Amino acid sequence: MRLVFVGAPGVGKGTQAKRLEQQFGWTVVATGDLLRAAIAQQTTLGRQAQAYIQRGELVPDSLVNDLVAERIRQLDSFILDGYPRNLSQAETLETMLDSPLDAVVLFDLDEDRLIQRLSGRRVCPACGAVFHIVANPSQRGEQCDRCEAQLVVREDDKPETIRNRMRVFREQTEPLVAFYEERGLLRRVCADGTPDEVYQRLLEAIHTT
Ligand code: AMP
Repeated sequence: MRLVFVGAPGVGKGTQAKRLEQQFGWTVVATGDLLRAAIAQQTTLGRQAQAYIQRGELVPDSLVNDLVAERIRQLDSFILDGYPRNLSQAETLETMLDSPLDAVVLFDLDEDRLIQRLSGRRVCPACGAVFHIVANPSQRGEQCDRCEAQLVVREDDKPETIRNRMRVFREQTEPLVAFYEERGLLRRVCADGTPDEVYQRLLEAIHTT
């Protein structure tokens, strides 16, 4: 299975992608996670990407295209979470694949709910676990359930940056909806409700139930 997940920041793509990975073993390739890891390690890529991410802008295509091409080359099954983010990346992705994707899942949620979700998100800087202060709190409060590190607010989940990321989504990523609809690949999933509810809808949308 080769899937692309599209959706605004905070819609829960990452949570749902990890569930599919656990159940079916399809590898999640999350460009945001790869870029944050590169920043943490201060690699050349990380240093180039850092300022864009802090401003809530897209990192230049040339940096992410190579990153994705290298990751998916060896994979029969994958879920792309956060890539492509604009039409040019979508066109580049087609050139990386020898046959079409199986489906592109669009996660839908209104903007007020998105902002609520983003502002309550807490992440573990050590192991990458993601929590929400209301919907999915860590049993250890402000510490990670799994590794006990102190949880943090993602740098780009601060209110100013959230607004910018929403704008970038509307202007640059939303045109992908028509692009994939034309190709007959788009599946819409309502992202409201609990992670379990959304997961059931996702399974139906990709016909695995
Ligand atoms: P995410 O974790 O998917 O919300 O991504 C966090 C940030 O990483 C985004 O706001 C962008 O700055 C950058 N980023 C992630 N994926 C891409 C991509 N496909 N193209 C450009 N920038 C990206």
